[in-house]
Amino acid sequence: HLARWRAAFFAVVTTAGYCAIAGIIWLGGHEVIDKRMSPGELTELMLYTAIVAGALGSVASLWGSLQTAAGATERLFKIIDTVPEIRDPEAPARLPAGGGAVHFQNVSFHYDARPEHPVLRGVDLRIAPGEVVALVGPSGAGKSTLTALLYRFFDVKEGSVSLDGADVRTLKLAELRGAMAIVAQEPVLFSGTIRANIAYGKTGATDAEIEAAARDAHAHEFIAKFPDGYKTLVGERGVKLSGGQRQRLAIARALLADPRVLILDEATSSLDAESEALVQKAFARLMKGRTTLVIAHRLSTVRDAHRIVLLSDGKIAEQGTHDALMATGGLYRRLVEHQVIFREAVS
Ligand code: ATP
Repeated sequence: HLARWRAAFFAVVTTAGYCAIAGIIWLGGHEVIDKRMSPGELTELMLYTAIVAGALGSVASLWGSLQTAAGATERLFKIIDTVPEIRDPEAPARLPAGGGAVHFQNVSFHYDARPEHPVLRGVDLRIAPGEVVALVGPSGAGKSTLTALLYRFFDVKEGSVSLDGADVRTLKLAELRGAMAIVAQEPVLFSGTIRANIAYGKTGATDAEIEAAARDAHAHEFIAKFPDGYKTLVGERGVKLSGGQRQRLAIARALLADPRVLILDEATSSLDAESEALVQKAFARLMKGRTTLVIAHRLSTVRDAHRIVLLSDGKIAEQGTHDALMATGGLYRRLVEHQVIFREAVS
C-alpha cells in the first residue's frame, strides 16, 4: 500500500519537474527570440531549474525513506514490548541446597503451535543426586523436550518439574539455569577468544582455573598448538574449529561452571576417531558424580550410565541397564537390533 503511494508521489513530482523544465525552455526560448533575455541568462536559468528539481526529487525520496523507517520502528517496538512467556515468578523462592535431585512428576506437554499433538504424556521420572540417566528413544519421542522442560525453555502443561525439591517455576530463572549446564550437539561459540568462551562458565574465573578446565576437557592440547594459545580468536571471524574441538571447549566451559545438573546432547554425526575418543573421555570427566541427563546416541554412553530411560511416543516405555533391557527382549532390544537408536551395530 505504502509502496503504491510512494510510486504515485514520485510519478507526480517527476512529471511536474519535467513539465516545469519544458515550460521554462519554451518561455525562455521566446524571451531570447524577442531579445528580452540573453542566451547566457537562459542557460543560467535552466541550470538553477535543474538544481531545484534535483532538490525536490531528494525530498521525495527522503519522504519515502522516512515512511519505511517509521514502519520498521513500529515493528521493532512490537518486538521490544513482547513479554516473554517464561519469566521470573513474582516472589521467587530460593533454590534449596542439594546435590541436584531432579523429579519430573506426571509431566504432560504439547507445543502451543500443535495443541492436538501431545509430546509428553504423564512422564514420571525421579533422578537421584549424582545419577547418570541416558535418555534414548526414536526420533520425535520427546527426549529434547523433556530436557527443555528442566531448563525451563517451556513450562509443563500438567504435572511439575523440580530441582532439589523446588518446583522450577518458583525459582528465579538465573538461579535455576545457573545450577545447570547444557552441552549441545552443535555447541555455540561466541566471537571472541578461546579464553572468553571457556570463562563464560564462571564469572571472574582465573587463568589457572580456565586452563585446568581445558585440561580436564582434553582441550588444552589443541589450544596450546595455536600460536596465540588461549587468546586465539574463534567464532565468525576467528579460526574454524572442528566439531570435536568445539565440543571439548563447551565441556571445558561446563566443567568450569561446575553445575549441579548436566544436560548433554550427544552428537549424532561422527567425529574422527581420535577426536571422538577425546570427547568421550571429556564427557566422562564431566559426568562423574554429577546428576546428568544425557540424550544418548552412543552405546558406550548407555553402558556407562546408571540407568537407561527409553522414551517412546511421549511415555517412558522401559527403563533399566543396557544388559537388563536387552535380556528383557522388549522395545529397547528391538530398537537396538534394528539400529534405530545407536549409530553402532550391537551384536
Ligand atoms: P530427536 O531424537 O529427533 O531429536 P526427540 O526425541 O528429541 O527427537 P523432540 O525434539 O523432543 O524429540 O520432539 C518431540 C515432538 O515434538 C516431535 O514430534 C517434534 O516434531 C515436536 N516438536 C519439537 N519442537 C517443537 C516446536 N518448537 N514446536 C512444535 N513442535 C515441536
